[in-house]
Order: sequence, then structure tokens, then C-alpha cells
Amino acid sequence: MNQPYETPFTASAPGLAAATHEVLNQAASANGFNAFDGDEALRELVGKIAPWATGKCSALGALAGNETLQDAARLANEFEPRLRTHDRFGHRTDWVEFHPAWHQLMAAAFGHEVHSLAWTTQNGKGHFARAALSYLWNQVENGVGCPTGMAYAAVAGFTGKPPLEAWRQRTLAADYDPRRLPIEQKRAAVIGYAMTEKQGGSDLRQTQTTAEFTGSGTDGDTYSITGHKWFCSVPVADGFYTLAQTRSGVSCLFVPRFRPDGSQNNFFIQRLKDKCGNRSNASSEIEYRDTWSMLVGEEGRGIREILSHAHLTRLDFAVGSAGLMRQALTLAINHAQTRTAFGKPMSELPMQCNVLADLAIDSEAAMLGAMRVARAVDGMASSEHENLLSRVATPAMKYWNCQRAPVFVYECVQVHGGNGFIMENPVARLYREAPLNSIWEGSSNMMCMDVLRAMDKDGRCRDALVEELWLHRGANAAYDRFIDDLAGHLARSYPHDGHARMLVTRIALALQAGEMLAHGTLEAAELFIASRLESNGLPVFGALPDSQALPAIVRRAAVIGH
Ligand SMILES: Cc1cc2nc3c(=O)[nH]c(=O)nc-3n(C[C@H](O)[C@H](O)[C@H](O)COP(=O)(O)OP(=O)(O)OC[C@H]3O[C@@H](n4cnc5c(N)ncnc54)[C@H](O)[C@@H]3O)c2cc1C
Repeated sequence: MNQPYETPFTASAPGLAAATHEVLNQAASANGFNAFDGDEALRELVGKIAPWATGKCSALGALAGNETLQDAARLANEFEPRLRTHDRFGHRTDWVEFHPAWHQLMAAAFGHEVHSLAWTTQNGKGHFARAALSYLWNQVENGVGCPTGMAYAAVAGFTGKPPLEAWRQRTLAADYDPRRLPIEQKRAAVIGYAMTEKQGGSDLRQTQTTAEFTGSGTDGDTYSITGHKWFCSVPVADGFYTLAQTRSGVSCLFVPRFRPDGSQNNFFIQRLKDKCGNRSNASSEIEYRDTWSMLVGEEGRGIREILSHAHLTRLDFAVGSAGLMRQALTLAINHAQTRTAFGKPMSELPMQCNVLADLAIDSEAAMLGAMRVARAVDGMASSEHENLLSRVATPAMKYWNCQRAPVFVYECVQVHGGNGFIMENPVARLYREAPLNSIWEGSSNMMCMDVLRAMDKDGRCRDALVEELWLHRGANAAYDRFIDDLAGHLARSYPHDGHARMLVTRIALALQAGEMLAHGTLEAAELFIASRLESNGLPVFGALPDSQALPAIVRRAAVIGH
């Protein structure tokens, strides 16, 4: 569903001349570009792996540079969602009102299949192609990345469960239908997840909410839920996966907004969270009281069910953080190329050039690492190697990209100087957004523990990881030394939890380096290896070794042509 986007407000339209001075040397506005067509690294990768997706990526990439959508992103974050618990007659509505810009963004993302392409394409490499869309969408507006990511993962829970077939179909629609109606009357569905309670989000075994069995029928086994959730994003969704204690332990249930008889279900929004970032998106606290729900999967195996969906959201946040970094980089390069200092474009000042080149290789490595995980997810069903690799590489890349994004964006803010710290500059919004992905869908520590757990439980996961790293052996001596050392370390023993972060950081960097050798330019791959694997210290950005290649690396990473 491609829509024309018109520009009601154009920043580039002529403004009034300032009375006291001429406005000089402000950076050019970053719009009118295509985040796919202009991104050599991504374009080349999609061309190799899923060339059929090029047109879809290009259509979505145009939105990142579209001034109207950029303005919609600003408006949706400035005019925040408002809770409406009741209508004016006193009936409970438990609804949230949004600025029209939010709906415009949702329609654009869902219309461009950011949530669904993995499941609907017949062309193969669907998870990879969808990941490319998500990477591009995360350069438009991150708040909407939450509902698209949840809808993507939700399909895994609907598939093969006949009572949930209508939900599967509507979740897959390339459409957005924000009406508050029972699912049968809607063209498309939005899905939420409500797991986290006050007493703990990482340790879901602590779930206090309870569910009582009420019967079996065409909706499968049904339950009545009572309790609360401390975090529930997108509380206007049509249905929610949730966790509750049943007679057999923590179970996964699905709560539709309306009961099968068409009456409103007991889904009470207590208040909206006042968040550091992600302000366009509503996140809430909710309560259930005798709430109608359907069992998903086996009773008592709810955490296992949810984790099978989380595998996909974790991939999506590895991709999402890479996209966020890419947007920050695009803004930083644009700024530095179009503002001068000391007689030169700032991008040509040697130290700034080193910073930008360093950011560029980090961004490319983040994208390539995340897209490698997406390919592993595509191969999970047909290849043992891909299946085993994905169990280690997904949490490793979720950890590392999400961990890296805040410090990366901080550096991009610095490139902008004072302008970067002002909220009307999109890079300031990215700075507030960047830490979130390392918290939800499995925090950094939980991801590191997951990597250890996967290798502890099944030694073949470790073997698949080492095999993967060995594929790129022989191209760079420092890379070879690093992976030999890492493989030796993995063969001897794993650290206990207390030291997992360093090991998982090394695993993530090795995976990224391998992908840089396979798909990046030789100069960028060598610099990545020299500065990340050899130095063993991850110094500050801007500490790349001397190289003639730095200006060319910055130019290759510039999405906007000047
Ligand atoms: C904006 C926003 C929106 C959200 N939306 C949703 C939503 O829609 N649905 C939903 O269910 N949840 C949602 N969440 C909640 C999110 O998933 C949780 O915050 C997250 O899972 C962490 O749980 P917690 O906050 O209880 O932290 P805790 O579990 O208390 O963890 C705190 C810290 O301790 C660390 N830690 C915990 N256990 C260990 C361990 N064994 N070893 C080492 N370190 C450990 C964690 O890594 C973390 O750094 C949202 C959160 C935010 C901020």
C-alpha cells in the first residue's frame, strides 16, 4: 500500500530574512534522500541475498528522506498519546488518543509490510528481507518499531493454532485499521505483549497474575485472568499475549480486546508511562479482572512459548538498533559535510574524519551482524548449522548492537555540536531512544546469559559458532589469531555469569568482523579488525589507525549526495 505523502510544512520553504544578520553556515536539512538507494552497504547485501526485495526496500527507503514523514515523526513524539479511561458518559473505554501523525506512521509501516513480509513472501529469505525493511523503518520512527516488531513475532504464536487463525490472517494484512472493534469486524490487527509485572521482568517465573480454567470449546481452552502488568506497550492493540499462573505453572494466554460475544473484555489501563524516549508510542500499566482469554500452547509451558516469539523480537531489536545507528550516522555525516569550520567542510577535518569513518564501520558491522542473524533465522528449519548458530548469534547480536547504540548516538550528537543537543534536531530524539532496546525483550545481561546457556546446553551451538567464524579464515591474519584464541577459550571452559559480558562481546565482534570480511570493503574490514579485535580495548570513536581510506569510507557511508 504505497501512499503519496504530501508536504503540509516544508522546512526548506523560504523563511523570513533575519533582521540583524544573515543566517550562514547552518548544515543542510537532511531530507529528499533514499535510505536504501543511497546506502551502498545495504543495497549490495540485499542485491546478493534477496534481490527480489530491492523494490520494496527502495520504496520504504524513500520514506526515511521524506520531509512529511520526518515531520510526522517529530509531531508524533511531541504530541504524546493521552489516556482516555472513560467516555463522556462514564463508560469505560480503556483507550488511548494519538496525534494523527502516529496513525500516518503506523499506516506507512504496516502498509509497507515491515511487520509481515517474513511470513507472506513466497520468494525465500523472508526474514532477511523483512529485517531489511525493519532496518529502514527504524530510520523513520522508532516508536512504531515496537508494534511492527510485536506483530512480526506474534505470528509465530498464531501459526498452527486453529482458534487463532483469524488473528494470524489479520495480523499479516498489509494494512492498518485503528478502529476499536471486535476482530471479526476489522481489516487488520495490532498485537501487544504483557508479561512484565512489578516484582520482576527478567525473571518471569515470579509471575503473580493468575488464570482459572473456564472450559473448552471452539476457542480451545479458555481461562479467566486476574492480576496486573507493570509494562504493556501499545495498549490499544486488538489482542495481547500475556502470562499467568495456572494450576500447571506459568502459562501463555491470549487476551482479545473484545470477548467472543462482542462485549468489551476486562482490560483496564491504569496509567501511561512517562518515558525517557519512545514517546510517540504508548506504554501502560494494566489490570485484569475476570478477563476472558485463550490458552496458547501447552498449559504450564508459557515461558517457553513466549521465548519462541522473543527469538524474533530479539532479532528485530538487533536490527532496530543497527537502523537507529544508521539514521544517526546519516544525520552526522550530512551535518559534517555541509557545515564548515576552519575553512573546510567539517567532515574533512582530520580528527572529525577519523570519528566519522569509525562510526561508519561500526554502523556497517552492526547492520551486517544483524542481517547475518536474520539469514540464520531463515535457515533454521532447513539447516542444522543455521539453527544452532541462530541460538547463539541472536542473543549475542541483540546484546551487542543494543549495547553499542547509545554510545554511538552520543558521538553523533557530538558531531552536531550544540545543534545536536536541541530536541528539534532528530539526533537528540535518537539519543533518548537509544538505550531502550537494551532493556526490553531481554536486557543485556540476560542476553549474555542466554549465549552461555545455549552453548552449555548443547555443545553443537559452540561448534556451529566456531565453524561460522572459520568460514572467513585466511583473509586477515589478525582475524585468524582472534578467532583461534576465541575458539581455544570456548573449547576449554566458559566463564560463569560474572564474566559473560567480555566473552559475548568478543563473540559478537568476531561475527561482525567475519561479515565485514565477507561483505564490506577490504579497507573497512581491515580497520574494523585492527581497531576492535587487535586493540582488545574498544577505544573511543576516532581512534582508527592512520589510513588513506578514511575519507573514502565516509563518502561511501554518506546516504545523501551533495
Ligand atoms: C518503554 C518500555 C516499554 C515496555 N513494554 C513492555 C511490554 O509491552 N510488555 C512487557 O511485558 N514488558 C514491557 N517492558 C518491560 C521490559 O520488558 C522489562 O523492563 C525488562 O524485561 C526488564 O525487566 P525489569 O524492568 O523488571 O528489570 P529486572 O528484571 O529487575 O532487571 C534489572 C536489571 O538486572 C539485571 N538482571 C536481572 N537478572 C539478572 C541475572 N540473573 N544476572 C545478572 N543480571 C540480571 C537485568 O539485566 C537488568 O539490567 C517495557 C519496558 C520499557 C522500558
